[in-house]
Amino acid sequence: MRGRLKEALYDEADDGSLRRRYADPVTVGDQVVVTVVNGIEGAIEDLEPRRTRLSRIDTKPHPGAPDVEHVIVANIDRVFVIVSIRKPRVNFRFVDRLLIMAQFGGVEPVVVVNKCDLLQPPERAELDQTMATVYEPIGVRWVATSAETGEGIDSLRNALSSGMNAFVGMSGTGKSSLLNRLDPSLALRTEAISEWSGKGRHTTTYVELLELEGGVQVADTPGIREAGLWGVPDGLLDSYFVEMIPYIGKCRFRNCWHLAEPDCAVRDAVKAGDISAQRYASYRRLCGEGPTR
Ligand code: GDP
Ligand code: ZN
Repeated sequence: MRGRLKEALYDEADDGSLRRRYADPVTVGDQVVVTVVNGIEGAIEDLEPRRTRLSRIDTKPHPGAPDVEHVIVANIDRVFVIVSIRKPRVNFRFVDRLLIMAQFGGVEPVVVVNKCDLLQPPERAELDQTMATVYEPIGVRWVATSAETGEGIDSLRNALSSGMNAFVGMSGTGKSSLLNRLDPSLALRTEAISEWSGKGRHTTTYVELLELEGGVQVADTPGIREAGLWGVPDGLLDSYFVEMIPYIGKCRFRNCWHLAEPDCAVRDAVKAGDISAQRYASYRRLCGEGPTR
């Protein structure tokens, strides 16, 4: 990699000091210009602008720069947010966090609820109800799957069919099993249920770009469990909850956080049932987790 690209990791302040911006100069999914040096080796000369990206706060500490951007994967069209019914149990906060990351980076999210074979009919009705009342109204596509029975695999395959895709989800949710279902020739290793510890078997956090039958590309991204939001300024979090947008600016206070302020249009909408209480609870939780507090 040419030195010039490494310089792009830093911003120069007025006083000449350098501040770290990015965790890495180049990431999976990037389009780069390469010069072939001796027929085999090459040099990365330049990086094309990223069309979309999925970013988190870098987990490595950088003194003086608490919010260094780690671009997990670039130029993807869609991110599949994979959750499972059990081991681990569906975590809607994780889903909401990923929806924000997707919106921030210009990526379409698709929620995949896997291991649906484990649901008894009443539990299945409850899941359908939650998705229909919480996520469908905000325009989020979702699919119920089972890597065990094959339910939903065709829908998943259709959703994947164009462009570049990424799978994100906690370890154990069935990402490898779903990928094997989509294309058995991948033969990815899956974790036996009896070994499931909640910690996951991945010790690395590298992203792997897989090519499925038919040329569909999927980036498999482990290690996104505690995905810290990058780039969403604390005071703008409300604008990343699409259902809150119509109410922003209608509160008594212009800079309302919609937490405890009186005459808050967002909280009124939650009380009236126009904003889902579950999503609002996610918002409150994320408000307390911004990079500056
Ligand atoms: P990953 O860590 O997300 O790649 O998850 P794996 O694909 O390794 O799956 C973790 C465990 O969940 C394995 O024991 C799988 O057999 C099991 N599993 C995956 N998908 C399903 C499913 O749809 N139904 C059930 N019952 N188990 C599943
Ligand atoms: Zn408010």
